[in-house]
Amino acid sequence: MYILRPRSSVLAAVIKRSTNQSFDYVIVGGGTAGLVLANRLTEDSDVKVAVIEAGTFPEDVVGNMTQVPAYAPQFEGAELDLEWNFTTTPQAGLGNIPVSYYRAKALGGCSDINFMAYGHTSKGTHQLWADLVGDDSYTYDNMLQYYKKTMNFSPPNAETRLANATPTYNADDTATGGGIDVTFPSYAQSWSTWVAQGLAAIGLPQAQSFVDGNLLGHSWQMTGITQSTGIRSSAQAGYLRPVLSRPNLTILNGTFAERIIFNGDTASGVEVTSKGETYTLSPSKELILSAGVFQSPQLLMVSGVGPKALLEQFNIPLVKDLPGVGQNMQDHITVPISYQVDVVTSSTLEGSALADAITEWNTHGIGPLSNNGGDYIGMEKAPAEFRANFSAEVVKQLSALPADWPELQYNVLPATVSTTSIGGEDSVLGGNYGSMLASVIAPQSRGNVSIASASMSDAPLINPNIFTAQADIDLLLTAFKRVRQTLQSSAMAPIMIGEEFYPGPTVQTDEQILDYLTETVRPFSHGFATCKMGNSSDPDAVVDSHGRVFGIKNLRVVDASAFPFLPPGPAPQIQVYTLAEKLADDIKQTVY
Ligand SMILES: Cc1cc2nc3c(=O)[nH]c(=O)nc-3n(C[C@H](O)[C@H](O)[C@H](O)COP(=O)(O)OP(=O)(O)OC[C@H]3O[C@@H](n4cnc5c(N)ncnc54)[C@H](O)[C@@H]3O)c2cc1C
Repeated sequence: MYILRPRSSVLAAVIKRSTNQSFDYVIVGGGTAGLVLANRLTEDSDVKVAVIEAGTFPEDVVGNMTQVPAYAPQFEGAELDLEWNFTTTPQAGLGNIPVSYYRAKALGGCSDINFMAYGHTSKGTHQLWADLVGDDSYTYDNMLQYYKKTMNFSPPNAETRLANATPTYNADDTATGGGIDVTFPSYAQSWSTWVAQGLAAIGLPQAQSFVDGNLLGHSWQMTGITQSTGIRSSAQAGYLRPVLSRPNLTILNGTFAERIIFNGDTASGVEVTSKGETYTLSPSKELILSAGVFQSPQLLMVSGVGPKALLEQFNIPLVKDLPGVGQNMQDHITVPISYQVDVVTSSTLEGSALADAITEWNTHGIGPLSNNGGDYIGMEKAPAEFRANFSAEVVKQLSALPADWPELQYNVLPATVSTTSIGGEDSVLGGNYGSMLASVIAPQSRGNVSIASASMSDAPLINPNIFTAQADIDLLLTAFKRVRQTLQSSAMAPIMIGEEFYPGPTVQTDEQILDYLTETVRPFSHGFATCKMGNSSDPDAVVDSHGRVFGIKNLRVVDASAFPFLPPGPAPQIQVYTLAEKLADDIKQTVY
């Protein structure tokens, strides 16, 4: 762990807690999506909004830990009060072991603890989305206006970045004035400049920073960081703090949603608890669920909306039989490969080097602590020579995806990676280490989330079912081999020290690699699509293309759960922000 040095000016939060008023909209979950809605809906001063959030400002829990980009890997496995500390059910694809699944409990939600990657998904993915839900609003051209509303771009700092770390992007693809501060970190990792050459050596083309509807290629990664301060730009920093003083916005932090109240087929309110007190909030217009990929479907189920047989099992009175609630869960998967290297990485950021970095970041917002670690990325389809080994069935399955949907993703990390989490502490090893992550971003395994009881206080049963589809096994094997090709390319040879450090040269045959993958593969914490968006003829769809729950009035779901699928790319949070921007417009246009 880096030593945590709270910045002297950690932003204090002042929250209005008065519930003694009526609201037009009540939003459950002040996370990534919920705070976009809170901001946009209260732009009209006549509209009153309450946000219910179980957590509070992260600064009140962990000082400035969430603000420092380089601390991003530390949230995984840290079991902080800032997280729900969920564990999956035993995973058949991983030799029947349960694994941690990270979700933030805080204003800002997972945007407080993620890796800050910023980017769009592909044009073909948007077309598929529009086709599946029967709504042309979701084509790339039509969603571009909402992507731009999420972005307040600052060009890279040419004075602080390495000369050979100049990002390629088209200024016309950027925007200013949007919710999240976006830039390339002021400090570029030397490790990434070498990985860039390795990815070029194995044949990936140069991309334009993944904000132009193309994901195929390699590029420096845009990030949600405020360049002038080097601070993470989360949903609470970008969308909430600037509007905290609006009198028509009420934030109820430390408040837990227990169940939705129905009047027939209309959602009339939500029962909440705070400090041992239970009360009901009844919006005059709509209740909006933004409690995330697990708790939005959980709240629906404990309240009587979900698969009938499951609800009967827990004696939950049925409001609406919706078999798709909690189904269709999708996540990206990843494994690491590490080497000792002859460039400075985070592995040696300790002692006086760390002290200097803290001073540099505290004083100017620059230096190694202003970098999120994952500042370079490559994506591609499995190359033909690997695809030739896939079964006809797997090839057919993958060919249903658009031509521009990459299947494999290659991330960088300037450190080693432990076997149980992304992010590592290397000082005990001595020397510098560099890693790449081999990932699958066209997963075919499908998981689900269910309930253990009729109470929201019991954690949801999370079963991502990862690494169960043959396509995912074939793709991860390919990704692993492609990362090895990158790391063993002559382009990277000048900085590689010795043999592969992890998993190491004893892992050679396909059988040995598959054993390593099974032991090591983890979900990327990009869970999506458990309240699937679809059209009314889709029996598994939970919400329509406006986020409205089928068969229920005045109830919407707006968050990672309300997607038809998990879009490819390094930045699912940007998909969430963008959907929330779009649905905020839909809500504003709704006549009640
Ligand atoms: C470790 C990690 C790394 C990631 N890296 C990236 C990345 O680099 N780039 C990227 O684009 N995406 C990344 N993601 C994914 C991305 O952050 C999420 O997909 C996205 O933030 C989810 O947004 P959401 O609004 O659906 O949910 P959340 O942001 O999780 O918000 C849900 C909110 O609801 C609250 N809540 C839940 N239940 C209740 C209840 N009953 N009562 C009151 N409040 C409740 C929660 O506390 C939370 O604040 C990462 C995620 C994680 C965890």
